[in-house]
Amino acid sequence: MDEVTGAQLIAESLKAQKVEYMFGIVGVPVIEVAMAAQAAGIKYVGMRNEQAACYAASAIGYLTGRPGSCLVVSGPGLIHALGGMANANMNCWPVVVIGGSSDQNQETAGAFQEFPQVEACRLYSKFSARPSSLDVIPSVIEKAVRTSMYGRPGACYVDIAGDMVNAKVDRSKVRAVSCCPTPPVSLAHHGAIAEAISVLKAAKRPLVIIGKGAAYGRAETALREFVEMIGLPFLPTPMGKGVLPDDHPNCVAAARSRALLQADVVLLLGARLNWMLHFGLPPRFNPNVKIIQVDLCAEEMGNNVSPAVALLGDINAVVIQLVEVVRKDGWRYASDSEWWSTLKDKIVANAKISKTLALQSTVPMNYYTVFHHVSQLLPHDCIIISEGANTMDIGRTMLNNYLPRHRLDAGTFGTMGVGLGFAIAAAAVERSEHSNQRIVCVEGDSAFGFSGMEVETMCRYNLPVVIIVVNNNGIYSGVDLETWKEMAKMGDLTSIAPPVSLLPEARYDEVMTAFGGRGFLVRTVEELRSALQLSLSDWERPSLLNVLIDPSSDRKQQDFPWLTLSNL
Ligand code: ADP
Ligand code: MG
Repeated sequence: MDEVTGAQLIAESLKAQKVEYMFGIVGVPVIEVAMAAQAAGIKYVGMRNEQAACYAASAIGYLTGRPGSCLVVSGPGLIHALGGMANANMNCWPVVVIGGSSDQNQETAGAFQEFPQVEACRLYSKFSARPSSLDVIPSVIEKAVRTSMYGRPGACYVDIAGDMVNAKVDRSKVRAVSCCPTPPVSLAHHGAIAEAISVLKAAKRPLVIIGKGAAYGRAETALREFVEMIGLPFLPTPMGKGVLPDDHPNCVAAARSRALLQADVVLLLGARLNWMLHFGLPPRFNPNVKIIQVDLCAEEMGNNVSPAVALLGDINAVVIQLVEVVRKDGWRYASDSEWWSTLKDKIVANAKISKTLALQSTVPMNYYTVFHHVSQLLPHDCIIISEGANTMDIGRTMLNNYLPRHRLDAGTFGTMGVGLGFAIAAAAVERSEHSNQRIVCVEGDSAFGFSGMEVETMCRYNLPVVIIVVNNNGIYSGVDLETWKEMAKMGDLTSIAPPVSLLPEARYDEVMTAFGGRGFLVRTVEELRSALQLSLSDWERPSLLNVLIDPSSDRKQQDFPWLTLSNL
């Protein structure tokens, strides 16, 4: 008899569904699952917190189009992973979480780490199930992988009873399930395509908004043809950056507010009209703006603004449909329009402002100076991962992306703590695809702290991630070392220290050196440039640049820098 264990069935089924990566933390009852995954040819990355493991697995889905898997233990392990599932769902990224749970027939018995896991995952997933016997594991895993990718992508959960992990079944009793294909592609209705083209042609001030759905949907080639053929201005959302290069002549990111406010027709490609796009409403949008909305999720159509035209379908396929119509009639948007000159004037004016700030050579440095030099040194094909408040917001405007799916950040959910997990996933993909791309993680000091122990994971697997911690001693901003010492003399810091503050000049670089990576303490432009160059030339191990900047860099000086709420 050819017997197979539950652990083997899970691992082999994931591999059969082309799930190539697993991130997790093992413990009873899932150790054997991780071992079986490696035996089946899945790359296993052991992480330090399930949240980061789940962030990493979800980034695999965004980067490769096939979900990564996340392996967690019962109870608290699974609960930690919920953050990652929620983040994946909000971002519309596929991920499959496998959770060990208490034994069968022990439900409600008060078993070790017992928790209603299948129910708990429902709010954070598209599909949540517990196979009732070993022989159905392959079909449940197939359904989880398929559901995570099909329709609007998201998180799926499979619960494995502890006693099923090592239980055995005769292989001949297990129904083989084939690999689910990539999602079927749908086209928009041809009448709606014609309608969209006529609305676009009638526009005086058209604007294309490129979201991370366009990045996920791999629409870059068709989109470039569309934008260049017609000569339309485009604006990427944060993770839409790089679908078309940020230095493309039609990119109007540097005139974002003006473009949003004055556009009369917006072609919205894979972006929701949520908080990130100011709901598509005044005061940030023209009240009469006509939206041509392209999305594969029908329920998304009409959220906040009723679209003039709804194009339901896959972005890549729909853009090709649009290209075909325009190619036939040869229409171009006038390059000498008033709209183009308004946008170009604004771009030039805004560039001057940030250049002035960037060229300040004071110590401590400000954000603009740091990003100016970082952007000069980063290779064009590097993957930039970023999180933090000011660090992410200012960095986004100054660090260019030239390739699609090369920027990952706090995303739709605004989740802090995603950076190191995302970087580990990107580095794992880089390693297995030999793409020779640098993975650069630009972190605020607060954001870094959420998953800081993952530097050990990077060191353990020799993942040459470059982490730049832009350290302003706090959340939004902290206080300088001298002020901190004065406050400590005045009394109990828990009563008087601003809640936004973190330890001034904390040595995050030493967290990296503790595990054998490279650490740099950086105060000046020269130190920044040389540390970054050294880090970028090292492919053997990770580096961390602890860049101490002016804690009040982002705003003007206040009389009483602490104890004033208005200061926040
Ligand atoms: P952003 O953060 O860039 O604004 P969102 O995450 O808000 O982007 O929106 C992405 C949208 O893209 C979602 O509404 C999702 O349904 C949609 N989407 C994802 N993949 C595709 C695809 N291949 N074709 C069409 N729409 C897609
Ligand atoms: Mg900070």
